[in-house]
Amino acid sequence: MSLKVWIDGQYYDKENAKISVYDHGLLYGDGVFEGIRAYNGRIFECQAHVHRLFDSAKAIRLSIPYTAKQLEKVIYETMATNGFTDCYVRLVVTRGAGTLGLDPNRCPQPSVICITDLVRLYPQEMYDKGMAVVTASVIRNHPNALSPRIKSLNYLNNILAKIEAIDAGVSEAIMLNHEGYVAECTADNFFVVRNGQVFTPPASDGALEGVTRGVIMNLCQSSFIPIHERRLERHDIYIADECFLTGTAAEVIPVTKVDGRVIGTGEPGPTTRKLLEAFHKFVRLVENEVTN
Ligand code: PMP
Repeated sequence: MSLKVWIDGQYYDKENAKISVYDHGLLYGDGVFEGIRAYNGRIFECQAHVHRLFDSAKAIRLSIPYTAKQLEKVIYETMATNGFTDCYVRLVVTRGAGTLGLDPNRCPQPSVICITDLVRLYPQEMYDKGMAVVTASVIRNHPNALSPRIKSLNYLNNILAKIEAIDAGVSEAIMLNHEGYVAECTADNFFVVRNGQVFTPPASDGALEGVTRGVIMNLCQSSFIPIHERRLERHDIYIADECFLTGTAAEVIPVTKVDGRVIGTGEPGPTTRKLLEAFHKFVRLVENEVTN
């Protein structure tokens, strides 16, 4: 049976799940989205994701024609329709079908799309042994061009950075901001560990306020691991004891090589391992709390 995709209140077979070629989401990348996970039948950090979606939409002056509660219901229903308890959820809000001009006022009705599917970004071996990354020459959005805090349908510079990673034979790229400081990766947040303390760039340096990043920061606090939002230079990465990435699709993944430099011992370090374990425990714990 084909997977069903929810579009504007109706289900379509995956193969027939389509929107208008006049949709400004397609014509101009005019829209916002969220990547969410469900574990054991519960949407993980649902509120945080839906809030960020509404914040992104507000920033681009896009009115989402549903409430947060309604969107949550849509996700649960789409999961149930497809028989998923553990899956990845892609929520997309486009400006809607309009005319061949930029004016968003010519798009009377935004489109809302909910896709539930399975996702596996990286092989298990990378979670066990760590991954290599490179720094891309393409930078994150300048905040005066498009705030990098908006999760918009404009991912072109991230895609160009990803192509640089692939060209270099690795799976992810670190993106710097317009001032040359570390922002994040193409679809993941970046962390370094040094002398038992964890550091991650602040949102003001171009990091998306990742939901997984937030969970990891909380887990650091509850595990008595000092965590700081701090401006990072590439040099801070090269001399780190450990590095790791976080993201909804990637979850938590150790990084053991950056720009040809071996990080720490070249193996996933103890703090990364501890946080990885705590994260997987936490996603199950949340489920238990809700269902018990
Ligand atoms: N940075 C970027 C650019 C992203 O697109 C994402 C989401 N894939 C992240 C970081 C991680 O955010 P989250 O943990 O909310 O998925």
